[in-house]
Amino acid sequence: MSIPEKIRREVASLKKAIERHNRLYHSLDNPEIPDVDYDALVERLESLEREYALPSDSSLSSSVGFAPLAKFSEVQHQIPMLSLDKVFEKDGLRNFTKRISKLLGTEDLVDFSCEPKVDGVAVSLLYEDGVLKRAATRGDGKSGEDITHNILEISCIPKTIELKNVKTRLEVRGEIFLSKYNFNQINTQARKEGQKLFVNPRNTAAGAIRQLDPKKTTNIPLEMFCYGIGVNEGIALPKVLGEIFFVLEELGFPINKDIRQSSGVEGCLDFCSELYSKRDLLDYEIDGAVIKVDSLLSQSLIGQNIKAPRWAIAYKFPAEEKITKVLDVEFQVGRTGTITPVARLEPVFVGGVTVSNTTLHNMDEIERLGLGIGDRVIVRRAGDVIPKVVKVVKSEERQSIKPIIAPKYCPICMSPIEKDGAVLLRCTGGSSCSAQRKEMLKHFVSRSALDIEGLGDKLIEQLVDEGLITDAADIFSLDEAVLLKVDRLGKKSSENILVAIKKSQETTLAKFLYALGIREVGEATALSLANRYPNLEHLMLATIEELESIDDIGPTVSSNISTFFARKANVDLIKRLREAGVRWSVLPTIKNTNLVGKTFVLTGTLESFSRGEAKDRLLELGAKVSATVSKNTDFVVSGPGAGSKLSKAIEYGIKVLDEEEFVTLLS
Ligand SMILES: [Zn+2]
Repeated sequence: MSIPEKIRREVASLKKAIERHNRLYHSLDNPEIPDVDYDALVERLESLEREYALPSDSSLSSSVGFAPLAKFSEVQHQIPMLSLDKVFEKDGLRNFTKRISKLLGTEDLVDFSCEPKVDGVAVSLLYEDGVLKRAATRGDGKSGEDITHNILEISCIPKTIELKNVKTRLEVRGEIFLSKYNFNQINTQARKEGQKLFVNPRNTAAGAIRQLDPKKTTNIPLEMFCYGIGVNEGIALPKVLGEIFFVLEELGFPINKDIRQSSGVEGCLDFCSELYSKRDLLDYEIDGAVIKVDSLLSQSLIGQNIKAPRWAIAYKFPAEEKITKVLDVEFQVGRTGTITPVARLEPVFVGGVTVSNTTLHNMDEIERLGLGIGDRVIVRRAGDVIPKVVKVVKSEERQSIKPIIAPKYCPICMSPIEKDGAVLLRCTGGSSCSAQRKEMLKHFVSRSALDIEGLGDKLIEQLVDEGLITDAADIFSLDEAVLLKVDRLGKKSSENILVAIKKSQETTLAKFLYALGIREVGEATALSLANRYPNLEHLMLATIEELESIDDIGPTVSSNISTFFARKANVDLIKRLREAGVRWSVLPTIKNTNLVGKTFVLTGTLESFSRGEAKDRLLELGAKVSATVSKNTDFVVSGPGAGSKLSKAIEYGIKVLDEEEFVTLLS
């Protein structure tokens, strides 16, 4: 068809105008014409291109982008975007594969394409003659919204694809998502700027993809994984889904590397459990796996019902976010008096466990969330991370919501509460506060401290509540008569507890110091203190300056230590503990002075000692024991099974001792 000169000129001038307005809009942020007029130019150009079969100029639309839309236009899906049937248990998956075999009339193992179910937004991308013409959301499956202007901003989505055939239409379907990394980056930035935080990657992606202004989409680094195709006219594609993914990848589409082909139900189950276990390691969020029959011929034989294909199933993992209600907020008193708000929740199954309460950390967090008692909230529990209230779901009935007010007095002992630093609240009751006493006692008997087995949290609470003990020294005067008074404590368990108490009297100075619960003195600091002051009396008299000269001890910790030992109550407690038989070996003179201050790293297994025993011996001799090899390491003791620590020692030229040499050195 010959094209009239007049049309040629009009097309050229239209293109020029569109280019100019694109530039004004995007680079200069200074549009000259209203959006409707701009749209009219684009429409006129497109209609001329269609009428005269002109090649459309994709550079006009793709690289620069369109002006914001007043609203989304509706897109009918030629082939409906069906949802998937879901199963939540292995048996559900087994039933699915059984049904497939039956429908296909085969006893052979059926091949499946196993895919992570990315928690994002499903989209349809339509390419006409290799050019991305239209992108749409899934919507209700029959029709969605035209989001082409935003999809053009996503760099990993090809705007044109190279196809051998002409007159083609190819619809690629995929899931748009925001990676966990980028989500965290965006929120870190938002926090810095005092902006509102995004709730989760999925919501952020869904919000970005439905922006009317594509510039706002550009700020969110969205990604996509393709999961299948819809319309296909004029392109010969493989007959197996797994191979179609290869073709799509060749064409420049992003394909998830975690997709795997598996045979039979066992292969699928393996895939699902492996995927579940590495869920936290993936950089994208998933809510399960999708299992699809791999062969397209089999897919069409199996067919679909109105809502979902029969050849695919979603195997859902436990949700990591659920909505529940805050029934109440309580203020818990910690070992050092810190007051922590804890939300009591309507029990909810989330992330694989039932959650009925969760910490709110501090009053600032409550304010940030805008939380009140009675609010409906989104609770998130991912992996082993403690559950967290991430958002308040605003509802109509706000008048029934009770505000959360920071207490002025300790809920347990009624002592005044004071502010400690910017956000911390602290009960001033000290050891007169029974909540603090209970927590101190729990700490004292914990594994890393005096390690008294059988003296659990519940029992300690009961002993304190009934006035049977008040502080750590009282533990050592417990006898069977007292223990038997306590609810549900039989003769046998009483005996066991008394044995454990007796055993705990023999300890180390480091464990004893840790057990005292000096503020901010953890296990490592306690060990440094014990190494520096093998004699407790010397430590108790040490000045702040002396303490600060110890590695890893800063001004705050040294002041905490000094304050602790300056208090008569604490000195008395130590005295009573020692009188009650708590002891550790003091080596007044270290025989093998060669080892004082030397740093050892232990690796592999030793025959004549456990790792812990070897460590204790070294510490007694004044040596230091470190967990990692560095240039400051003096010796590496290496037994069978030694790994990277040994190779590092060799790399740094550090002296390596075998067990025999080590024993000689110790004696
Ligand atoms: Zn208190």
